[in-house]
This record gives sequence, structure tokens and C-alpha cells, in this order.
Amino acid sequence: MHPEPATLNALLKRLGLSSVQKILPEMVVLAEQQGWSYGVFLERLLAEAVAHRSESRTAQLISKAKFPFAATIETFDFTFRSDLKRQMLGRFLGPELVSDNRSLILQGPPGTGKTHLAISIAYKAIQNGFGARFTTAAALLNELRAAPDLHKALQGYLAPHVLVIDEMGYLGYGPDAADLLFQVVNGRYQKGRPILFTTNKALRQWGRVLHDEELARAILDRTLHYGEHLHFSGPSYRLKGRKLEWEDSATPLNK
Ligand code: ADP
Ligand code: MG
Repeated sequence: MHPEPATLNALLKRLGLSSVQKILPEMVVLAEQQGWSYGVFLERLLAEAVAHRSESRTAQLISKAKFPFAATIETFDFTFRSDLKRQMLGRFLGPELVSDNRSLILQGPPGTGKTHLAISIAYKAIQNGFGARFTTAAALLNELRAAPDLHKALQGYLAPHVLVIDEMGYLGYGPDAADLLFQVVNGRYQKGRPILFTTNKALRQWGRVLHDEELARAILDRTLHYGEHLHFSGPSYRLKGRKLEWEDSATPLNK
């Protein structure tokens, strides 16, 4: 006796088991070839379906996060960054990132791998089952400023378990920047949800960047309450192995 595919598919759909539907034909062939008992067949089918579901959930979360490029901690070359040990990042790579609200400010000059690391940490969070969102400070401020319903727009930045705010301090932000950013930072702080900032500016300069010393201090205060500040120096990975005029004191720029 053979099953009726249309009936079977309709039943699986009603049960919300479309992942089973996708792998079923292949599993049936395997079961027949290898003579699995009904029990073994069911167990393997369900195990495959669970793996399939978790893979597609991860893929969905990655696409929702809107990372600008793919980066993982495994592809980060720690030998290039002698000021950084992988162990220093360990506390941000497990579920405690979210459960302990461990925010992070990655500060350093261009090309030191700040964005790469922020993406890698958010990516690990996704692998740990959390949702993440990547944005730049400029994009976040532009979106909130233009939003017809600020409260609704804010939810997009408060809801993800992990928020990356990249390139804090690259642009001259408008006069409302401190207030808008504070609403995001404070809202997340109250929910106990971490933010990963990358910045080229020392923390004492954030007041000038945001045109408001007090709000900048309040933003840093909440971010660093359970979080950390890592400061990199050194050469750019983008320009690895290249000698630049401004680094070479023997060759003044005006010659
Ligand atoms: P930043 O945000 O500090 O300007 P990025 O993280 O964007 O720097 O790094 C620039 C490029 O170099 C990216 O493609 C990134 O993947 C790569 N990169 C930077 N540092 C490293 C590193 N230590 N190991 C591997 N790739 C790196
Ligand atoms: Mg960057």
C-alpha cells in the first residue's frame, strides 16, 4: 500500500510540518533501501526535520540581521591583532551576551576589524538562537528622524536581542542625535538587551559628536553598566603589508 501524496502533504501542512514535507521523499527512499523499521524511520525523519528547521531559522535570522558582509570569529586573524586575545571576547560569544546584557564598545582606527568583530559576535548570538540587527549610527538616526511614528520605529531597534550600531562618530549628527540615540540605548537597557557599538572616537569625544555632553554620558553609563569598552590600536587590515606615506617619517609628505 502506498500513501496518497496530496493527502499526506495536506496533513503535514495542517500540522505545520512543511519541513517534514520537504525531506520526506528522500527519507522514504533511504528507509526502503536500508530496510529501516517504522520506529527508526520516524526517529530519523523527525531528527532531520528538527535540523532542517533550525537551519532555516538561523538563515532567516541572518537575513533579518542585515549584516553588510559575512564575518565570523573563526575567520578573524588574531595574530594580526596582537592587542586582542580571543579569550577577551569569550564572554561575548555565549548566551550570556544576551542573558547578562553584555554590551560592548569596540573603539579603534579604520581597518582594525571592529565591524568584523561586531558582526561575528551578533552572528554567534544568532547561532545561540537569538535575533540580531545590524545598523549604522547614521542609518539609525536617519530612520528615527524620518519616522512618522517614532514609537513604532523605535520598536525595530528595541526588539532584537542584539543590536549592532556601527560607525558611531563618523558623521556630524544633527542636534536631535543624542536624544534619539538615548531613547534606543535606554529602551534596550530597561529590557536588559545589549548593544555592540563600533566607533573611531574616544568615549570622551562622544559628547561632542552628539552635541550633548550629559546625554552622551547617560548613553555610555547605561552601555557600560554591564558592558565593556575595548580599545584597539595598530595598523589597518585593509592595508596589510603596505607602507603608507603618513607612517613613514623618513619621507615627508611635501617631498
Ligand atoms: P573597521 O570596522 O575597524 O574599519 P573592518 O572590520 O571593516 O574594520 O575590517 C576591514 C576588512 O578587513 C573587513 O573585510 C574585515 O573582514 C577584514 N579584517 C579586519 N581585521 C581582520 C582580522 N584581524 N582578521 C581577518 N580579517 C580582518
Ligand atoms: Mg567598520
